[in-house]
Amino acid sequence: MMRAMQLDRPGAPLRMVEGPIPEPGPGELLIEIAACGICRTDLHIVDGELHGPLPIVPGHEIVGRVAGTGERVGVPWLGRTCGHCPYCCTRRENLCDDPLFTGFTRDGGFASHCVVDARYCFPIPDAFGDVEAAPLLCAGLIGWRALKLAQEGVALGLYGFGAAAHIIAQVAAAEGRRVHAFTRPGDASGQAFARSLGCASAQGSDEAPPEPLDAALLFAPVGALVPAALRHVKKGGRVVCAGIHMSDIPSFPYADLWGERSILSVANLTRDDGAEFLARAAEVPVRTTTTTFPLAEANEALDLLRAGKIEGAAVLLP
Ligand SMILES: [Zn+2]
Ligand SMILES: [Zn+2]
Repeated sequence: MMRAMQLDRPGAPLRMVEGPIPEPGPGELLIEIAACGICRTDLHIVDGELHGPLPIVPGHEIVGRVAGTGERVGVPWLGRTCGHCPYCCTRRENLCDDPLFTGFTRDGGFASHCVVDARYCFPIPDAFGDVEAAPLLCAGLIGWRALKLAQEGVALGLYGFGAAAHIIAQVAAAEGRRVHAFTRPGDASGQAFARSLGCASAQGSDEAPPEPLDAALLFAPVGALVPAALRHVKKGGRVVCAGIHMSDIPSFPYADLWGERSILSVANLTRDDGAEFLARAAEVPVRTTTTTFPLAEANEALDLLRAGKIEGAAVLLP
């Protein structure tokens, strides 16, 4: 039997469902799931801030084993691309016009099993256990793509110190960058956590960093942070928005953008990002901080994430 936590309608709690184990089609694999991380995007889907087909099983940070072979694989958000649109043809499959997304437009990993397209899975480096690896599959990967968009900047701000920032702070520090973490104002334990991972400073998002930033990466879904971060970015600097959903961005004076500053977003990932990042993460080596929950407690875990009460990443165990 397969067990899954299913979203029937936005705003409703996920519901445990049982059914037959799904059959993989041509080119697909049946995955026996060992762990699945919970991403903020799952929260946006569950809360109805992102609209996809329903019912759906969320979850796109899957670590599991291929039924039959036992090979360990990771399954990310990018579930399939068309292979022939202008984006796919120019190595930008993250922008594909006709994609499938794991846990959004096809069933994901809040389950005992799932079926995936074999071409979009990654082998997981042996350096990581199942649980430790799960948050790498989205928080890590999207963070990596955001870090690449920050270019060579040495002074780096991370706004929102959750699953993604706690991973990318380690990668950035290992590259010799100075990482400045921004948490919810007054979140002393979040700031201490950031410093423990090599951040040069940690402060509330309403405070100024100790030095001007070459780039700021925004992981919090709070539009007001965009102009706030922009004010702390040097000429030529970038504000990179890494979330899939964000509250509206308030207006701000053009002078804050002047000086060839830019604001851009990160969308999805390519398979190249995945291979690159997992190798890099093993090299650093990244240590993920996780809190695990049984699959049946997915709703409780989502509540804690919504309240900002998870240090590092939440991971479900089927
Ligand atoms: Zn395409
Ligand atoms: Zn995600």
